[in-house]
Amino acid sequence: MRLVLVGPPGCGKGTQAERLVQQFGLATIGTGAMFRDAIARDTDMGRKVKPLMDRGLLVDDSTVNDVVAELFRSPARPERFVMDGYPRTYSQAIAFDALLRQQCLVLNAVVNLTIDDEVVVRRISGRRCCSNPECGVCFHAAARPPKVPGKCDVCGSPLIVRDDDLEETIRRRLTGFHQNTDALLDYYRRQNLVRDITATDPPDMVFANILTALGD
Ligand code: AMP
Repeated sequence: MRLVLVGPPGCGKGTQAERLVQQFGLATIGTGAMFRDAIARDTDMGRKVKPLMDRGLLVDDSTVNDVVAELFRSPARPERFVMDGYPRTYSQAIAFDALLRQQCLVLNAVVNLTIDDEVVVRRISGRRCCSNPECGVCFHAAARPPKVPGKCDVCGSPLIVRDDDLEETIRRRLTGFHQNTDALLDYYRRQNLVRDITATDPPDMVFANILTALGD
């Protein structure tokens, strides 16, 4: 199974990606997580993308495409995967298609998680993520509280509000998301790959609907 997950920040994309990984034994490829890791390790790329991420802006297409291409051309090339946060623009989708063709890999579906912007803002304001970059698991005050308040269930590190989860940032990201996604989805709709799924349902139902849409 090779999937692309599309949806605005706060739509539950990460949760659904985790479930797809468990169900189908996939690798998750999250470009946001890759960038956060680069920032934590203070690499050249990390220093380049941090100011953009802090302001809720997208990293330029060629940087993101290069990072993904490097992964697919490495010995650790994923065969079965779920893309979480890439491609995000029409031009990234074109580059990704070319990369997959080169690697003789074919996409099975693009899962499009749909949700109202105001619901996203409410959801995000409760989000707390693990401060340990090697962990990075996210919790939610109401929907997925940690066992001990303020502490990560997985590694025990303190939970923090990420800069890119602040309300002002999230609204900017939503605007950018809508600007980019229409063309991206049109492109994949023409290939008959898009499966639209309502993301406001409880996570179990969203996942069941994804499985049905994938014909599983
Ligand atoms: P995410 O964790 O997917 O929400 O990504 C966090 C941030 O990383 C985004 O706000 C962007 O600044 C950057 N980023 C991640 N993936 C991409 C992408 N495919 N294209 C451009 N920027 C990205």
